[in-house]
Amino acid sequence: MQVILRRVTLPLSQTPDLRPVSLDACPALVLNADFRPLSYFPLSLCSWQDVIKAVYLDRVTVIEEYDRVVHSSTAAIRLPSVISLKEYISPAIYPNFTRFNLFLRDRFTCQYCGFVAGNGRELTFDHVIPRRLGGRTRWENITSACPGCNFEKGGRTPEKANMTLRSKPVRPTIYNLQNIGRCYPPNYLHDSWRDFLYWDSELDL
Ligand SMILES: [Zn+2]
Repeated sequence: MQVILRRVTLPLSQTPDLRPVSLDACPALVLNADFRPLSYFPLSLCSWQDVIKAVYLDRVTVIEEYDRVVHSSTAAIRLPSVISLKEYISPAIYPNFTRFNLFLRDRFTCQYCGFVAGNGRELTFDHVIPRRLGGRTRWENITSACPGCNFEKGGRTPEKANMTLRSKPVRPTIYNLQNIGRCYPPNYLHDSWRDFLYWDSELDL
């Protein structure tokens, strides 16, 4: 079974807005069959169109609903705000080796000076053992660095550059990244999603 997840752009404000809600602002939070989100960061959301299709195909269970109603030619349907898959999807153990996942592993922080970047845009990645010394492009040899630290380190090892790593680069599991991702709640959370996200306990990390 396949459920198509699309990235959905949400409004930035968390304040209640009494104007009519755009349908595009009504994605559903998608939970696995164990009622945990398929993904925390980015949050697993599904557009209302795909949700309606999945409901129609009997692939998901509707857990919560928006007040917003859509009308077909024969019926009125309240838009689901939280759905769960009927069939459990086993999560992969290891995440893909991507820039984004690497920055997430390092909490969007330069591992040399501690500079925290917004969404990783101001970060670069650094080969801890430089490539010219045989360093490989892999989880265990790549770390997040701000441009200044990356420039200062140049093609040297941290020892030669007299720079100290704040964490040893390791290959994370999906579970590790999920836990880190919970520390970065999205700008908008519908009230009905909160019971499934456990932000409060995780923000103490
Ligand atoms: Zn730095």
